[in-house]
Amino acid sequence: MNEKALEKILNIFLKKVLPLTEKGVARGSKIFGAAIIKKDDLSVVIAETNNEIENPLWHGEMHTLKKFYELDANTRPNEKDCMFLSSHEPCSMCLSAITFSGFDNFYYLFPYEATNDDFNIPHDLNILKEVFNISDGKYNKENFYWKSQNINLLINNLPTSEKETVLNILDEIKKRYLILSRQYQKNKDGNSIPLN
Ligand SMILES: [Zn+2]
Repeated sequence: MNEKALEKILNIFLKKVLPLTEKGVARGSKIFGAAIIKKDDLSVVIAETNNEIENPLWHGEMHTLKKFYELDANTRPNEKDCMFLSSHEPCSMCLSAITFSGFDNFYYLFPYEATNDDFNIPHDLNILKEVFNISDGKYNKENFYWKSQNINLLINNLPTSEKETVLNILDEIKKRYLILSRQYQKNKDGNSIPLN
């Protein structure tokens, strides 16, 4: 993926997903968000955020899929023509939901290790271990159904001369998520989310 495409994708997190997540976290939901965009012009079809305060299944990805399937079936794009963006590496439920929905890809900003270490939310790795006997989050990252991509690795692959703009946006995004994380962790004891 080239620099212009990565810049556009990062700006979707910054300008579409993060503002929704800031509202969600203010209501007590988690810090995760997602978007579905068109492969051809990278335009946003739908962006959403975690809404676990309403329903513990409304992870960022699940809530985005719910809203995607509420769009008019005659006009919404085919899943195969879309890219699935997720702020954080999808949990086992969301991996399956993306699979059952027929997407052939997903792209994430923060890997499981960051979700666990930097955001203090250990459930993704714990569930993979406890329920599926998968250690260290090592699911099949490229398989019959889809290929997953860590956006940070795509940025690392850019030539050095093309990295500056995207790294600046990435920095801004990471700062915003860390602020949200502190806010969520500070307030989470009072919420009703089963795995908070
Ligand atoms: Zn999930």
